[in-house]
Amino acid sequence: MGNRQEVALLTGAGSGIGRAAALELSRRGVAIAVTDLRAEAAQAVAAEIRAQGGVAVGLALDVADPVAIGAVFDRAEAELGGIDILVNSAGLLIVEPLLGLASESWHKVMAVNVTGTFLCSQRAGRGMAARGHGRIVNIASISGMRAGVGRAAYGTSKAAIIGLTRQLALELGPLGVTANAIAPGVIETPMTMGAYSEETWARVLDMVPARRRGLPADIAEAVAYLASAGAGYVNGVVLTVDGGYMAAGMTQTGALRV
Ligand code: NAP
Repeated sequence: MGNRQEVALLTGAGSGIGRAAALELSRRGVAIAVTDLRAEAAQAVAAEIRAQGGVAVGLALDVADPVAIGAVFDRAEAELGGIDILVNSAGLLIVEPLLGLASESWHKVMAVNVTGTFLCSQRAGRGMAARGHGRIVNIASISGMRAGVGRAAYGTSKAAIIGLTRQLALELGPLGVTANAIAPGVIETPMTMGAYSEETWARVLDMVPARRRGLPADIAEAVAYLASAGAGYVNGVVLTVDGGYMAAGMTQTGALRV
């Protein structure tokens, strides 16, 4: 790496967790390629980073479009240099009951969450392997570790991301690249704000030992750690950042007194 400024590319970074991670990596001195489905969203976050004194470009990228991935990664590297850090945060949540789940919904979720993560990791991984250094951070979910109503496509896609992360860790580890997954709990972002009523939030908090909503900044801190030089011996893990939800069991609310 020499003294060159490190470069990160983030997908789905025009909103929520990806945006928070882009801002946090910038605060730690990394040049940022902010990509998102909507060009305006990506460019707005890039402008926010530049306003804070950081280096950033904003580019439209639909991770379900393999041709676009090649073109956008080429452009980001031409503008900022080789990509040292990839954060796969683009994600699609479709909630439909399993028996009525449309095959188009299934394929769309897999195309964005699984194939998008794979193709971006492969593209960035090639450059990282050639330079002998890299960090890949995949945003999975606790939905990839526990079943949830209506999450046959989403939960399965997140479990696949966890499996893919382990494959990346194994095959890229000898080449100087680490790949890790973060499994966020319920985080307050546009994705959940649209879907959760106040009553739902109250039920969620009853199951979360931290007794507060998760915030994009909670996940951004974890991304920054896994992307750091100091995390070089952490490879292939799933880091849950969920306020302790996954640590608890059936008796967590005190409803079962034995
Ligand atoms: P968000 O605020 O909705 O951000 C997701 C971003 O991804 C949006 O900007 C969205 O664009 C973009 N996106 C959707 N499809 C895309 C595509 N095909 N190509 C590129 N970008 C695309 O939601 P978030 O909560 O930050 O989600 C970020 C990641 O965290 C996702 O992978 C999600 O599954 C995961 N996650 C979230 C939670 C949670 O509770 N929030 C929990 C666990 C895991 P549009 O807005 O234009 O659709």
